[in-house]
Amino acid sequence: MPTIRRDPITGRWVINPKIKDKLHSSLLDMEKLVDKGICPFCEGHEKSTPPEIFALRSKESRADGPGWEVRVVPNVSPALRVELELDRRAERMYDMMNAVGAHEVIIETPRHVADLADLEISQITKVIETYRQRIMDLKKDGRLRSIFVFKNYGERAGSSAIKHAHSQLIAVSVTPQSLKEELMGAKEYYDYRKRCVYCDIIKQELTFKKRVITENTHFLAISPFASRFNHEVWILPKKHSADFENVGQEEAGSLAALLKEVLLRLKVFLNDPPYNYILHSGPNRTKRRGGAWKTLSDDYHWHIEIMPRYVRIDGFEWGTGLYINAATPEQAAENLRNVKL
Ligand SMILES: [Zn+2]
Ligand SMILES: [Zn+2]
Ligand SMILES: [Zn+2]
Repeated sequence: MPTIRRDPITGRWVINPKIKDKLHSSLLDMEKLVDKGICPFCEGHEKSTPPEIFALRSKESRADGPGWEVRVVPNVSPALRVELELDRRAERMYDMMNAVGAHEVIIETPRHVADLADLEISQITKVIETYRQRIMDLKKDGRLRSIFVFKNYGERAGSSAIKHAHSQLIAVSVTPQSLKEELMGAKEYYDYRKRCVYCDIIKQELTFKKRVITENTHFLAISPFASRFNHEVWILPKKHSADFENVGQEEAGSLAALLKEVLLRLKVFLNDPPYNYILHSGPNRTKRRGGAWKTLSDDYHWHIEIMPRYVRIDGFEWGTGLYINAATPEQAAENLRNVKL
């Protein structure tokens, strides 16, 4: 049984997926296809992936056939399973539960293009719409507390052998440490000043402009004041909202344009670096009302963090959580602003 365990000292959660032989062999099948030069994510190769969970596709087309624009399939070696019972239990002082959750792959285009940055804005808008649809669907399951959409691009950023633009979604029954830290920090700031810390950051950055990389009608991109990674970027909606899935159609287009622009600026300035991005959004509050989540809609503000990974994280950073960043955020913002697109 795949489990998720809690470290009794730090409260950190760790997933033990236990990949089944059957699933493992389908992963090997996929890798064999890639070795032969066949891409399982390209249109026409739908049968080489597990059956689709969701797709934006034309009315005449059929599930698991061609005619789609964005396609979502289960990860072939999922870290989590949605069909399990939660079954929280303890082994004396240790807490654990079954690894209930979802692990999905979002195939961002039917064409064989490696980087999201190289897709049309209209196509990226469809990817964002797909993220929204999947999050809304998974939030119906009250057990799934946090949902993350993330991307690994380039081998150093942990990308698989498949060089076809895709992102992943993981839904878990716990609140992982890094999100918990943000939620607690945002709440503390709100308790004290009665304002959202992210809204205050946006206001200050737009006033002084030192760390603003670019902005459009609904979004802005900044080099965060305490950037951990060289040329780290945050994309934030200008209008306060705790939950990503509330983005409207016009906002989705605005986000797609800004995301593409930022990724292209990074690509040109850093010469196609490996990168990760992650969507941080409010946790599922359908089951729990009041208590810890009482002011969350007012105090938390969703955002996307983009982390170029061309500088290696070393033992000191890994062991201390204290980052050393050779590029100041002010310099990084200037570098990215000055890129000619
Ligand atoms: Zn492909
Ligand atoms: Zn806000
Ligand atoms: Zn964040």
